[in-house]
Amino acid sequence: MLRLSPADRVFILTGAGISAESGIPTFRGAGGLWRTYRGDEGGTHEAFRRDPALVWEFYSMRRRAASAAKPNPGHRALAQLEARLQDRLFLCTQNVDNLHEQAGSARVVHMHGELFKSRCDTCRLPPFDDARTYDPPAEIPHCACGGRIRPHICWFGEVPFHLDEIFSALDDCTVFLAIGTSGVVEPAASFVAHVRGRARTIYVGPEEPANRSAFTECHLGNAGEVLPELLRISP
Ligand SMILES: [Zn+2]
Repeated sequence: MLRLSPADRVFILTGAGISAESGIPTFRGAGGLWRTYRGDEGGTHEAFRRDPALVWEFYSMRRRAASAAKPNPGHRALAQLEARLQDRLFLCTQNVDNLHEQAGSARVVHMHGELFKSRCDTCRLPPFDDARTYDPPAEIPHCACGGRIRPHICWFGEVPFHLDEIFSALDDCTVFLAIGTSGVVEPAASFVAHVRGRARTIYVGPEEPANRSAFTECHLGNAGEVLPELLRISP
């Protein structure tokens, strides 16, 4: 069980593992959806410029897969921890689904974007809620400015979102908890090194992460099984 003092500030980083437990396919790694879907097509802005319909076909498939998924006990345990700690908890996710929100988390920082948001490719209008699917021969949507509407996703080569806010929270935290993240995707893989020595560093996931040596505690198992016990509210 995780013991917290009133002075503790908790930074949580979640990755694909916690979503995979809810049935959302991971798209990195061997056999992943990304690999089976024409290599890296769709994963860069260049690919979007070249063939926006193919990219939208891929994200439409991902929107459908994510709409069918439900949060698991790991997501719910994190939402309960937020209710208890309020602004002493910072939840940063690499996941683009909305399972944390569905579980009741109110403040989720999506560093890689959000599957159910879109934005203009050209102008600076803010991202908007968008759960629609665009399958061929459906028309690719356009903004009033004439630009193409694209998924609000951080593609390869693009800078992740909210990094200032994230590093400020990393600087403030006393407990760093990484859940279901492989420890290879940068910059998130370096967060633990950023806080090591100042904060307790805890890992939860089915397998040891690539950066295991940076963690002071490692709880092997599914988030849905480990977190409800680890984050149990003391009587
Ligand atoms: Zn526009």
